[in-house]
Amino acid sequence: MTDSNRLRIAIQKSGRLSKESQKLLKGCGVKFNVNEQRLIAHADNMPIDLLRVRDDDIPGLVMDGVVDLGFIGENVLEEEQIERETLGKPAAYNKLRQLDFGGCRLSLAVPKEFSYQDASSLEGLRIATSYPNLLRRYMQQKGITYSDCMLKGSVEVAPRAGLADGICDLVSTGATLEANGLYETDVIYRSKACLIQSAEQQTPAKQALIDKLLSRMNGVISARE
Ligand code: ATP
Ligand code: ZN
Repeated sequence: MTDSNRLRIAIQKSGRLSKESQKLLKGCGVKFNVNEQRLIAHADNMPIDLLRVRDDDIPGLVMDGVVDLGFIGENVLEEEQIERETLGKPAAYNKLRQLDFGGCRLSLAVPKEFSYQDASSLEGLRIATSYPNLLRRYMQQKGITYSDCMLKGSVEVAPRAGLADGICDLVSTGATLEANGLYETDVIYRSKACLIQSAEQQTPAKQALIDKLLSRMNGVISARE
């Protein structure tokens, strides 16, 4: 059981955001030890519990008010928000600040031999992605119709496997695209990690703790700029 008097913060269990999220919390003076086998890590010196979960679960946990704060990539956050708005589920949250890690972009990419002019070259074709909502929003803005191929992983191999004509995937250096014979054509979303808070009313004590953490975080981040 989690104690509702303690601040609940969701962080990615393991992946590209987990080490930096933990480092930032430690930099804010939160003392904790993570046991790889455990879902929850209790802070020793502040009333804070860390919930270690898949990053995809974090926006929903915050929007449902199950946790108070979450460290999450803006790409995953925005994708979940559009999904929930479409389904009429709670989608409100407050973004406390953007963070200085987790930078990447969501881009369209096509095989090297594809003669690409602009996004309309994809008209009527099939695009593999793990971000169907962000892709739809971009293609709707451009007035382009296309088909989806929803893949949670291995998106970059979809064209070679004959599953799709192009992809919409996260890119940082471009090395994965290159290794799969693809090239980046359109950046559809630029992302960094961010800290979000549930839209629910907090008790004064919890809100004071959030404010303290945020002010320390601003100090830590501006010191390393
Ligand atoms: P989980 O097991 O938690 O679901 P995952 O495999 O979905 O993990 P990661 O690959 O760890 O996620 O990426 C988490 C986040 O890191 C991404 O959603 C994105 O915001 C950010 N990120 C930064 N650079 C990259 C990159 N090159 N590729 C993918 N994600 C990146
Ligand atoms: Zn994930």
